[in-house]
Amino acid sequence: MKRPTILVLGAGYGGLATVVNLQKNIGIDVADITLINQNDYHYESTWLHEASAGTLRPDQVRYDIADVIKADKVKFVKASVEGIDIAGKQVSTNNGVFSYDYLVIGLGFEGETFGIPGLDKYALSIANVKAARQIREHIEYQFATWSMEDVKDDSRLTIVVGGAGFTGIEFLGELGNRVPELCKEFDVPQEKVRVLCVEAAPMVLPGFDPELVEYAVGHLQAKGIEFSIGTPVVEATPEGVKIKKGEDVFEFIKAGTVVWAAGVRGNRLIEQTGIENMRARVKVEKDMRAPGHNDVFIVGDCALMINEEVNRPYPPTAQIAMQQGVTVAKNLISLIKGEETEEFVPDLKGSVCSLGEHDAIGVVFGKKITGAKASFMKKVIDNRSLFMIGGPSLVVKKGKFNVL
Ligand SMILES: Cc1cc2nc3c(=O)[nH]c(=O)nc-3n(C[C@H](O)[C@H](O)[C@H](O)COP(=O)(O)OP(=O)(O)OC[C@H]3O[C@@H](n4cnc5c(N)ncnc54)[C@H](O)[C@@H]3O)c2cc1C
Repeated sequence: MKRPTILVLGAGYGGLATVVNLQKNIGIDVADITLINQNDYHYESTWLHEASAGTLRPDQVRYDIADVIKADKVKFVKASVEGIDIAGKQVSTNNGVFSYDYLVIGLGFEGETFGIPGLDKYALSIANVKAARQIREHIEYQFATWSMEDVKDDSRLTIVVGGAGFTGIEFLGELGNRVPELCKEFDVPQEKVRVLCVEAAPMVLPGFDPELVEYAVGHLQAKGIEFSIGTPVVEATPEGVKIKKGEDVFEFIKAGTVVWAAGVRGNRLIEQTGIENMRARVKVEKDMRAPGHNDVFIVGDCALMINEEVNRPYPPTAQIAMQQGVTVAKNLISLIKGEETEEFVPDLKGSVCSLGEHDAIGVVFGKKITGAKASFMKKVIDNRSLFMIGGPSLVVKKGKFNVL
């Protein structure tokens, strides 16, 4: 009998967790496994706020896919997926067309701009490692240009961050540490720099414990970061953003840098598949398959699962994406053996939001933590995610050990 072909799209947390768990638990002759990713490296999306602010170099947040896959069990193809033909069971890429018996879609997230005019064009987005490098270099360019100008345009030194959710706050935490370094490096007086977080909702970090939110805001404000809450961005232009401050009351904030961190959606390729989706996220069956498509699994941010306890979707996280990868690998092996698939049950261990290198807030195993303890925990979580994919050698190579 012909060996089934398993095609995994995307080497993010979900795709890589699927592949490494397949290669751990499957014999060489059981299936042909191919992993397709647009880069020959994986990047830690959860560290992109650091690469964007410049507190980590881009090469520190990524590692080679070849370091974590077993070449005798998994074929890696560097290619950009261009189309997914579910009826024809084929995936087209810029490096050929690939057929499959089983497909795993783990193509990750994209920024969501909610149709706000100008954001797509004029705001930067913490979307991937290349975008993170662009943000870092853009901010450095603004500082360098200001210091060269005869007639100084201080708005070059204004950084607007759209969104006070998890990504926005983590990025602001890094900026709190990075701005003094930039000022020193580029001879800029720190009082000239303005970092402003603009949020449409009436609160910071929705879903987090109010006491922890108060701690986070206090910490960031102490570093000079301003907040404008309940004031949606209504337009972005090359000069900055317009925000709504009340009924018919608007303010224009001139800014050299606008970073939009206020929402994510699934990968747009999902929308062309004909599979039912909401903002490119597929409400998957309990075993992670796409409804009506028994040979297609969806992992990570392209999948949507309802937390029945609160009747809301689970937030898209790396924690869940990696756990889903483990289940998808098990279910693929079960299908090949003609056995029943199992249900995916998230095991939520908590959530820690960093506020720069040495501070954080979080709830871990139901306990609230702040400060150095939370920051230490964040590094443990970051290292654990490396361990789950690449074992101890990857932790030694890429881990975070600067705990003091
Ligand atoms: C700044 C930031 C901080 C975060 N912090 C946390 C946190 O603390 N904890 C947490 O749990 N979650 C966090 N998240 C969320 C987490 O990063 C995502 O939920 C997670 O990355 C989703 O994993 P994924 O496998 O779905 O996709 P991704 O990690 O997005 O990976 C998708 C992969 O697909 C590839 N790809 C995309 N399009 C194509 C294409 N057309 N062709 C080929 N390859 C393609 C990409 O290159 C990438 O390798 C954070 C996110 C951000 C941005």
